[in-house]
Amino acid sequence: MRPRVTMAAVLREFNAPLEIEQVPLPADLPPGSALVRVTRTTLCGTDAHLWQGVLPFVGLPQVLGHEMVGEVVALGQHADRDALGRPITHGTRLVWSESVCGSCYGCTVLREPVLCADRGYGFRQRADKWPFVIGGLTQYTYVPPGAHRLVVPDAMPDTWAASAGCAVKTVLRAFANAGGVRPESTVVIQGAGPLGLVGTALARATGAGRVITIGGPANRLAIAREYGADVTISIDEVSDPDERVALVEELTEARGAELVFDFAGSPSANREGVLMCGQRGKHVVVGLAGPQAMPVPMDVVMGREIQVIGSLNGDVSDLDRSLRFLTAFRDRFDWDAMFDAPVGLSGADGAIKAMAAMTAVKAVIDPALDFEEISG
Ligand SMILES: [Zn+2]
Ligand SMILES: [Zn+2]
Repeated sequence: MRPRVTMAAVLREFNAPLEIEQVPLPADLPPGSALVRVTRTTLCGTDAHLWQGVLPFVGLPQVLGHEMVGEVVALGQHADRDALGRPITHGTRLVWSESVCGSCYGCTVLREPVLCADRGYGFRQRADKWPFVIGGLTQYTYVPPGAHRLVVPDAMPDTWAASAGCAVKTVLRAFANAGGVRPESTVVIQGAGPLGLVGTALARATGAGRVITIGGPANRLAIAREYGADVTISIDEVSDPDERVALVEELTEARGAELVFDFAGSPSANREGVLMCGQRGKHVVVGLAGPQAMPVPMDVVMGREIQVIGSLNGDVSDLDRSLRFLTAFRDRFDWDAMFDAPVGLSGADGAIKAMAAMTAVKAVIDPALDFEEISG
């Protein structure tokens, strides 16, 4: 018998404690869908933003969390293979990407799943509307038919696999959209959250000559140095953006950086990022600057022939490469340094607040810590 309900941490009101309550699960599983028991969820800065209500399009109630890994407890028809053709059965451990419609312009003509007009982001799913729960702060969650899934390698810890679902795949896509790192080039990473830290590691792993990571607080910058940053610039110590630009200029013998990744999403990040670029540099925009964004100096973009490149999340290809990247560099980078000790669903509330306050780099939820598996 498969579960018909799940315990979940439900967001009913922005900035208010999450409610631990029972949420229905789909009674019938359509072809291509799956039901999984969530074994781990890692939180992302976006979860904190969603909780705070800064993204206006979010319908309540809803179950947050979009980085998770789980074991299959039930499958719809034609759901017995992953994106690489590997078999999926009861108990298979999976990660999956946001669902896509398969028929829009983004899906068919551009063939870019991240540009799907009907992408199944978790924040679009209300917990009182079918299929109720596609998020991660729950014992069980529904995997929609259009969500491409991947079997997780046995040796990979749950936390790593979960974080591939947003943080890692987003970074890998951003580097791919930038055209990769030219060996020996200077790469500036704006932000020392999970994206910035993975970005720091990837810049180092792909041959950057010099990696400069900008962010805070101090514990995150310490991890950035462990992950290969040659220089870290603390935004607490150097709070003036123009001073940070001057520092990068100094560090690059006045030439500026070849690549500047915005993983910070602060109002000043893109202006600062463009100013840090050297001639023919690239500024890759991943963060959300928000409505108060400072203007980007387009005369500098023109005068230095800078390319400004957008990058949005990641698709199943980026997710697959994320699992491979985490595995390939497991001895070089201490991935566990990013993760907090796991808490149960009842601790999800505190975990989200810790993300919002930036006291946690990556909070981790293990629903089994306070809720046993439901049988029948
Ligand atoms: Zn589509
Ligand atoms: Zn995310």
